[in-house]
Amino acid sequence: MSQPLDNLEPKAVWKYFDEIRKTPHGSGNERPLGNRVMGFARERGCETAIDDAGNVVVRVKASPGCERAPVVVLQGHLDMVCEKNASKVFDFEKDAIGLVRDGDWLKADGTTLGADNGIGVASALAFMEPKGAAHGPLELLFTVDEETGLNGARGLKPGFVTGKLLVNLDSEEDGVFYVGCAGGQDAALALPIATTASNAGWNCCRVEIKGLRGGHSGLDIVHNRGNAVRLLARTLIALGREVDLCLASVEGGDKHNAIPREAAAVISVAPGSADTVRRIFDAQLAGFRNEFASAEPDLALAMTPITLPATVLDKASRDKVLALLLGLPHGVLAMSRDIPGLVETSTNMARVRTGKELTVLCSARSSVASALKGVVAQIEAVGRLSGATVDVHEGYPGWKPNMESVLLAKARKVWTEVHGKEPRFTAIHAGLECGIIGEKFPGIDMISLGPTIVSPHSPDEKVSIPTVARFFGFLTAFLAALTRN
Ligand SMILES: [Zn+2]
Repeated sequence: MSQPLDNLEPKAVWKYFDEIRKTPHGSGNERPLGNRVMGFARERGCETAIDDAGNVVVRVKASPGCERAPVVVLQGHLDMVCEKNASKVFDFEKDAIGLVRDGDWLKADGTTLGADNGIGVASALAFMEPKGAAHGPLELLFTVDEETGLNGARGLKPGFVTGKLLVNLDSEEDGVFYVGCAGGQDAALALPIATTASNAGWNCCRVEIKGLRGGHSGLDIVHNRGNAVRLLARTLIALGREVDLCLASVEGGDKHNAIPREAAAVISVAPGSADTVRRIFDAQLAGFRNEFASAEPDLALAMTPITLPATVLDKASRDKVLALLLGLPHGVLAMSRDIPGLVETSTNMARVRTGKELTVLCSARSSVASALKGVVAQIEAVGRLSGATVDVHEGYPGWKPNMESVLLAKARKVWTEVHGKEPRFTAIHAGLECGIIGEKFPGIDMISLGPTIVSPHSPDEKVSIPTVARFFGFLTAFLAALTRN
């Protein structure tokens, strides 16, 4: 019976990918694959090293005559996201990833495939094979724990690689080079709140904004979708202008990198104000539907009567909470001056909870370091105005697109020669390892590319087989071209 990888080209890439998929390598469990990679390297006579974080480097000697070419770093990450369908029985710490061929696509059998970044790692390893095209000295850099927070890259130490040119192999669109990414920084606000006894006889209800599309706070922020927390604050402020309103609690959002899809508040109003409440909610909902139109087709505002809680926020706390949730920045703050359609700076008002105090988590991103500082300072300023304390977390740096990059110019030329068509250059409004690597190794010139991978991080992940050959064909020609001056 034929196997899914039979007759696929380039043979060396698929051979290594086959080894990778048989070796468990979920995030945090990269050591078996790291050891495997070092084993292959030693068999090929290459030097290897591993650092405290578990990152691995393999030093591949130059082809004869190319010893004086610049050292090029080929970089990918060892770990994969482990996701499976609920019905699939699978142990990511033991089992080999199953493969399914579907025409020009390769996918797994009910699990993530790990083409992200297994194809990148396999492609780098393929340059250890003795009979390839000419290349200069190579450093194959394999990081750990990329998927849970770029942690391997964060652990890199000076000198682990020496090359000044780096090709990151972790992008996912054929013919598209990434030349920049966003840095990020979170800020956690804590606002002291005071409570008072509920007014006896008042009507209490839970108000919910729901049905929003949410999405990734980096990649989807450009769509200008609604933030459920913000819309809830606007609704309650509108209501408070017309009726006497008590606020008992508010909560919404969850992860720092997800745009809040749902938010809810517990409120109480004086008896007899039900009609006003309904009228204002209807007007708010109609306004939001018009405002967001096709961006939020399922936006809903629901109200459910509940029993009156013993306490509510006092008036001063209520006003500060609502003002803070309305005043904190959210969404796209600036578009790139260099790359059309790319978000440069944004922030996500990601999560709000009431307990002993009100806590709000904001998550800012920018490809420009000073702009990131600027938006975090703005969040701090608004927080302090309301009386909140603000804890700014350690961030990670961005990678500002350098359209003058020598590596980029050469990549453009070689891609066009090999594939007969100009590639596209873009950047991503999310974190990449290149942001951190650029900070760890100042002055390094970087580009990022990869074959087409669809639905990474999900059991629907699949890689386009022909684009793997296109990707590797380019890499081979590119490394050869870099030996020539
Ligand atoms: Zn990846």
